[in-house]
Amino acid sequence: MNPIEQFYPFLNKPFKAVITAHQKPDGDAMGSSLALYHFLKQLGHQVTVISPTNWAQFLDWMPGTDEVIDFEHHKTEATQIVNEADYVFCLDFNILHRTKNMESVIKAADAIKILIDHHQQPDTPSFGYGISDVKMSSTCEMIYDFIVQSGHSNLINLDIATCIYTGLMTDTGSFRFPSCTASVHKIVAHLKELGLQHSKIHEAIYDQSTEGRLKFMGNAFLHRMHVIPAYKTAVMAIPKSDIYKFELKTGDTEGLVNYLLSIQGIKFAAIVIDREEERKWSFRSKGSFDVNIFARTHFEGGGHANAAGGSSLKSVEETLNDFKQILENYKSQLSQLN
Ligand code: 5GP
Ligand code: MN
Repeated sequence: MNPIEQFYPFLNKPFKAVITAHQKPDGDAMGSSLALYHFLKQLGHQVTVISPTNWAQFLDWMPGTDEVIDFEHHKTEATQIVNEADYVFCLDFNILHRTKNMESVIKAADAIKILIDHHQQPDTPSFGYGISDVKMSSTCEMIYDFIVQSGHSNLINLDIATCIYTGLMTDTGSFRFPSCTASVHKIVAHLKELGLQHSKIHEAIYDQSTEGRLKFMGNAFLHRMHVIPAYKTAVMAIPKSDIYKFELKTGDTEGLVNYLLSIQGIKFAAIVIDREEERKWSFRSKGSFDVNIFARTHFEGGGHANAAGGSSLKSVEETLNDFKQILENYKSQLSQLN
């Protein structure tokens, strides 16, 4: 993978580009994709954002979402656009299978793939140019740097500012995680100078619950949560019946795992959700317990040191039991965390 700086000169020649991110894009994946989209459009390029799957409704207000193609619903059209692209920008993921059914299409395409991402252990041979930096708070921070360092900071308008802020905010847990550096706050200061309305963005993302979602969460805390103080761990298992009963939609379970970390003394939080084709795990930690390694070792996943995901093909009960057994191996490590 060549350094991203070597790509900057190509920004001046017209090209066709696809921008994609990981499946079920979150605020950072969607924010970085749309920020880059608004930037490249201003330079006169032909740009299409293709999401591997649908996304949470609470992202729908973002400038440009109505132009985003959902690959699962428009496979033929999306495949043709990928095949005709000169470049495929791969944002907020670092291994192509994170694009689910788009993986084979991206692999088969002639386009040069460009990686901009902050997850650990990138699959760099798959990409022609790129930057992978785990110290970055978010891919949105990296898109900001990409625009500034390529000499185009004058093109950062309110749409781009809004998209970038969304990813900064969501990936830093509203500016509270250790990943939130002085650079992040300096970027926010610049975005504010451009007219950013940050309160509106917080409301648009975080104040969109349905009544059913809150009832679901109440039920989950009451009936689905296991707190294991000796391991400084809390885990939650959500069966499919809850998803139907409370009429949950994509994104409605997002953030739930973070509540487990708000329990006094809890350093490791995990939640497994019974999805259609797999049981999807989310892991979070505080301090030195590395959930990226945990997810990679036991649940075919990955992510960051303090936030990762994984999956299992077993039933919810079985994978929860697996989790509890695996925990035994970490007892001394977990109990010593402070
Ligand atoms: P979440 O729990 O919010 O789905 O994901 C937490 C972090 O881990 C995100 O940065 C996400 O991109 C990453 N992640 C989630 N699931 C997987 C997975 O199955 N594989 C890998 N490599 N990363 C994942
Ligand atoms: Mn991210």
